[in-house]
Amino acid sequence: MSKIEEIINTEIKLHQQFKNVNVIGFDMDMAIVRYNNNETATLIYECVLEHLVTVFPFLKESKLDFSFSKRGLVIDLELGLILKLDNKKRVIKAFRGKSIVSKEEIDSIYHDEKVIGSESPLKDYDGSNSARFFTMISFFETPITSVIRDFMEYQNSESIRLGKPIDYSTFKQLAKEISISFAKHFNDFTTGHYYTSFKKDPSKYIYKVSNRLKNWLMEIRSKNNTKVILITNSKSEYCHSVMEYSFGENFRDYFDCIIVDAKKPEFFKSDINSKPFTKLMTFYPKEKSDYIECSNIELGVSHDTIFKGGNIHLVLNKLKDHFKKDQISFCYVGDNLIGDVVAPKQVKLMTVAIIEEIQDPDEIIILKREKNTKSQEVQVNSEGLVERSTGKTNYVWGSFFHIHDDHENLSIDTFWSSILRDNADIVVYGVDTLVEYYYQDKFDNKDTLSPCAVVYGGY
Ligand SMILES: [Mg+2]
Repeated sequence: MSKIEEIINTEIKLHQQFKNVNVIGFDMDMAIVRYNNNETATLIYECVLEHLVTVFPFLKESKLDFSFSKRGLVIDLELGLILKLDNKKRVIKAFRGKSIVSKEEIDSIYHDEKVIGSESPLKDYDGSNSARFFTMISFFETPITSVIRDFMEYQNSESIRLGKPIDYSTFKQLAKEISISFAKHFNDFTTGHYYTSFKKDPSKYIYKVSNRLKNWLMEIRSKNNTKVILITNSKSEYCHSVMEYSFGENFRDYFDCIIVDAKKPEFFKSDINSKPFTKLMTFYPKEKSDYIECSNIELGVSHDTIFKGGNIHLVLNKLKDHFKKDQISFCYVGDNLIGDVVAPKQVKLMTVAIIEEIQDPDEIIILKREKNTKSQEVQVNSEGLVERSTGKTNYVWGSFFHIHDDHENLSIDTFWSSILRDNADIVVYGVDTLVEYYYQDKFDNKDTLSPCAVVYGGY
């Protein structure tokens, strides 16, 4: 079988698999519910800065720069550098404040075995946060990139002005203060700046879901007996606000079960005994009696009951019982590259990644070129496309998916692109594209399908 036939067969299998799953689990924020990312990032930025300027007054001058604060960047907390990685975890671009770090310096910090010993500091980096590396994994974190850039810019210019080396301990302090400001705004639903602004006008931050999506959820549940479960890391109060605005007051009608405060990726990683579920009798629990110990989730329970915490193994057991099967097919849909894509893949679920970056006009050009290369199995002369795409790219970091090596005229995967290739079965722009994909017969037909290893939206 040729490589192309193999890819096409895989895609037909995937489409069939998706159309026949027993269970679909959805992440909420930036997955089944779409956000206005810029408004949300601005609000988060304001929240974080509100606290930070009390500790670092010079950050008053800081501005949120959308073109710089991109998803997938990695912060080196030891050196205050902002990094972009390729699929081999090599640093291909780095910024110290507003200055780009030279290739020589990057090599001496991260790659040069003579200087750093035999192991790269990024050797164990897998996309999760560690003591040294912090990932801008979702649109909730990306605005922090601007703060970090402006902080380092200040430290850099002060070190030049005073003729002293940069004091890197200040950077650790910044990281600590950022986590304090996040806790301040996101842990308290009643007084936190984020939640109060959100509640005042949800329409500024999130979109209502389409009727097509709602109808589809109803259809797969009634006709195919598919179970639909919401599994979100958000707390119950916020979940209620978001779902009520986006789906309407009767949002419960679209789900067989709602799980809040799931603490993904641990939800998928922990063993069956380590993270039990708690039953909440209301989205706004206050009394002790609102929390009830329970052994597992229930499906289709009363409108007020939701579940908190838990782990995937309990859910799978419950569903196996329900379907009276030893094996059930479970598909998880989410936008967090680690918590919603890598973690569920590790427990062998089918995964759908929601990646809004694929609708960026620059990305579409690059992806089309990628598809063409594969479908024709020839080396297409893509220079024109590459030039056009890089010419149009108006942000400093370039494509989310690819790095173009000008010397070799090659396209290399970014770190996140390779994570997606290895862990996501399907990649789409949003849930509406996923509904479109569900109904598209062309994915079942060898003659109409143009192959790509991952389905990149693009209808
Ligand atoms: Mg999310």
